[in-house]
Amino acid sequence: MSKFLITGGAGYIGSTTASRLLRTGHEVVVVDDLSRGHAHNVEPARLRRMNLSETDALRRLMERERFDAVVHFAAYIAVGESTQAPELYFSNNVGGSLSLLTAMTHAGVSRLVFSSTAAVYGNPDRIPITEDQPFQPVSPYGESKVMVEKVLGWMDQFRGLRSVALRYFNACGADPESHRGEEHEPETHLIPLLFRAIRTGTPVTIFGEDYETKDGTCIRDYIHVSDLADAHICALNHLMAGGHSDSFNVGTGSGLTVMEVLRAVEDVTGRKVPYVVGARRDGDPPSLVANSDKLRKFLGWEPKCSDIRAIVADAWAFEGRVH
Ligand code: UDP
Repeated sequence: MSKFLITGGAGYIGSTTASRLLRTGHEVVVVDDLSRGHAHNVEPARLRRMNLSETDALRRLMERERFDAVVHFAAYIAVGESTQAPELYFSNNVGGSLSLLTAMTHAGVSRLVFSSTAAVYGNPDRIPITEDQPFQPVSPYGESKVMVEKVLGWMDQFRGLRSVALRYFNACGADPESHRGEEHEPETHLIPLLFRAIRTGTPVTIFGEDYETKDGTCIRDYIHVSDLADAHICALNHLMAGGHSDSFNVGTGSGLTVMEVLRAVEDVTGRKVPYVVGARRDGDPPSLVANSDKLRKFLGWEPKCSDIRAIVADAWAFEGRVH
């Protein structure tokens, strides 16, 4: 059994990972300021409500609890918002991470799994994307994750901090065992918005149908949150076994268009999704698909439930619980 600190553990992916770690016999403490996460995602006894800027409080917590590793999810994640308030993203995502790393250094915690993103690649030159493609972020959000990944490189070299950066593609679905799912406010993600259109009858807007893809809509790599959570467990196992620092894409390797996702939602729910086609959304690359061979090969990860119908079925069941 190991003991982990989960920052952002009241959020969607953090709480799913925390509950999977608990189910596999590990101990977990969550730090979350609840600015974006939800208290109902964490058992009260495990929650320490604090902001990552509280370096001393973090250090004291780490000295008291003697964690084996930190899994660092806490961050703002909305690309659009990051273009409206870049300072918010640099201060929270980069500043928060620096404070966390300072606390870790002082408390002697030397392993970290970091939530990174496909947004570090911007508009990639080649699809599927391998980890050796250059950082070319096109939003402050993507840049904030690049900056932290770079800091982690230096922390490895000069502080002996071993870290794994996981670059998520499109996280979606809901974990059927822990009943955690997407509850963002405001919601910007495709599948919850397709469900909302079904529930309310108000059409969802498809952001552009003039891309050079098979049906003109954007292609993304949709990865079930349970498979994503498992990638964190693989990364922790790697670090606990003395593994070196590295970065990995987390996706399925196959892409779906927005219309294919919409059709899958209609098939699984048996309901029509009202929609209109609108303009392209600023900053949306036409296609983002992961090559995740490295994660499979080196960390033994395998997606188990990321078929789009399974994703939609689990997300729809979660939707039924909260609405
Ligand atoms: N999308 C859309 N309408 C919406 C929300 C999203 O057409 O109301 C499209 C978006 O342009 C992208 C895909 O759905 O191609 C996934 O978007 P999401 O915001 O879920 O994730 P992102 O790819 O931005 O991380």
